[in-house]
Amino acid sequence: MNPRKGLVLIVEDDRNIAALQQLYLERDGYRTEVAGDGPAGFDAVRRLAPGAVVLDVGLPGMDGITFCRRLRERGDWTPVLLVTARGEEADRILGLELGADDYLTKPFSPGELVARVNAVLRRAAGPARGTPAVHTRGPLRVDPGRRTVQVDGVPVEFTALELDLLSHLLQHRGQVFTRLQLLDQVWGDSAHRDPRVVDVFVSQIRAKLGSASPIRTVRGVGYSATDDGE
Ligand code: CA
Repeated sequence: MNPRKGLVLIVEDDRNIAALQQLYLERDGYRTEVAGDGPAGFDAVRRLAPGAVVLDVGLPGMDGITFCRRLRERGDWTPVLLVTARGEEADRILGLELGADDYLTKPFSPGELVARVNAVLRRAAGPARGTPAVHTRGPLRVDPGRRTVQVDGVPVEFTALELDLLSHLLQHRGQVFTRLQLLDQVWGDSAHRDPRVVDVFVSQIRAKLGSASPIRTVRGVGYSATDDGE
């Protein structure tokens, strides 16, 4: 076992699913802890400070959506991978809006679970190598290396994925990306993903940045970051 892979907290009331998730993640070198309901899981995040949380949506005591929202409200940006059942699409979108980093749909393969956990952790750790460029545009300043976003010098809280998406668009200013291209290039893969997830993240970024947002919708195609302050 590779002890450097860190602790993953699994919040799941179905014991069989929790046991499978433990098996898959531990086989990949993670340590795991399981909480069987919302409040216990919420408490465990504070107590254990896990590297990531694998969070079921349908939980006794506090559902996964509320869990996520309350976690972000208290300023806790631990990466969250939301686990939803097929047909819980509205929950999935809402969960992402409320600060989940990514989602996984039941039933999932061991490979999918491990790949998604690896990805949220990698993203939270920041760029793998080199010092990425700082992007400035009008009042907006995005520093992908330090993982900070500022508008007029005031810090704005961004999830790791929001920051990666914004940085990617700014890095290729003027270039138009389709949703599938963004999923491949920012999320790391477009398999099993709903392209509308990109729209959710774009609207989150716009809501956070207001008029400082550089993202332009290119109707029928996708998104790009504009070159100037227009
Ligand atoms: Ca459940």
